[in-house]
Amino acid sequence: MAKKPGNGRCVHCLREGVERNWDHVFPKSWYPDTTTADMEKWQIPSCIACNARYGKLERDLIGRLGLALDANNPASAGLAERALRAINPDVAKSEGDATARDARAKKILREMYKGE
Ligand SMILES: [Zn+2]
Repeated sequence: MAKKPGNGRCVHCLREGVERNWDHVFPKSWYPDTTTADMEKWQIPSCIACNARYGKLERDLIGRLGLALDANNPASAGLAERALRAINPDVAKSEGDATARDARAKKILREMYKGE
C-alpha cells in the first residue's frame, strides 16, 4: 500500500476531492520492537492537513504514554526508550534538535498532574 491513494474524501474531515496520503491507524512509532515485520499495519486515506495534525497529536501522546510504560515488558519493548530519547537533548543531532527535545521535556513536566 505504498502508492498514494490519490484525490478523494478524507476519512477525518470528510472533505471531498482533496489530495490524500495514507494515515497509519496506529502510528508506526507506536509499535513495540517486538512487532513482527509481516504484521499488517492498517492505513486509511487522509488529507495531508489532517494526517499532519493527527500525527502531531499522536507523537505527543506516545511521548507521554511511553514514559509510563514498562521498558522490560515485551508488549511495550522500545517505546519507553524512544519516549526518553525524544526528550533527551544529549542525543540531539543539532542545536535546534537539542532545543526542541528540551522544550518537549519541559512541556511534559509543566503539564503533568502534580496533585493538589
Ligand atoms: Zn482531512
